[in-house]
Amino acid sequence: MALVQVENVSKIYQTGEIEVAALSNINLSIDKASFVTFVGPSGSGKTTMLNLIGCLDKPTRGKVIVNGKQVNAFNRKQRAGFRGFVLGFIFQSFNLFPVLTAYENIEFPLVMIKNESASKRKDMIMSLLDSVGMQDQKDKFPDQLSGGQKQRVAVARALVTRPKLVMADEPTANLDKKSAVNVIRLMREMRDKYDTTFIFSTHDPGVMEEAEVVHTLVDGKLV
Ligand code: ADP
Ligand code: MG
Repeated sequence: MALVQVENVSKIYQTGEIEVAALSNINLSIDKASFVTFVGPSGSGKTTMLNLIGCLDKPTRGKVIVNGKQVNAFNRKQRAGFRGFVLGFIFQSFNLFPVLTAYENIEFPLVMIKNESASKRKDMIMSLLDSVGMQDQKDKFPDQLSGGQKQRVAVARALVTRPKLVMADEPTANLDKKSAVNVIRLMREMRDKYDTTFIFSTHDPGVMEEAEVVHTLVDGKLV
């Protein structure tokens, strides 16, 4: 069975009198351990799509099934729990805690969510630091790291809870071309290593090329 199934999904935003159809009747499925991107011009619905799959928002109509659960029927608390245990997130602006070191940033979700022993936690974090090539930078604070290095830490942080699915909305938008492609390749290596599905969005053609499956949105419709 697919890891993600989106069935007849529409999302309409209502601001006062004005309705905006951000997504119209979307159907798609995403396989386990796949490496998928959503592309399209600004305003085409990429963020809305990722927010629905990432349980950050609910569709106006239709079903979103993730890891066998119909997440569109979840309440706020169920969504939060599901995000914590099943999903990982990587952000455009890294969103690292400035007062925590690289090591402590990666540790943070484990402290919040999982009740692992200190030694198990350390093994997991050190092995991820190694996987993302940041072991020798582990005691640095975010403002001592380059954009590409910060995003490497963020990739490790997204993986530390062993999520089924990592969501990344425009994860390379704040990086130079070379770092952007390197971060995407790192994400793909992590998919190979941990069998984690990655779904990201971009409008950068160089970054798009690195994906294995490309879904194109135009005006809220899949083309
Ligand atoms: P993208 O990420 O591809 O730029 P979005 O998903 O952010 O596209 O937006 C799709 C459409 O929905 C746009 O027309 C945008 O203006 C509208 N939209 C997005 N979020 C909201 C919101 N919270 N309220 C009203 N309209 C929104
Ligand atoms: Mg967006």
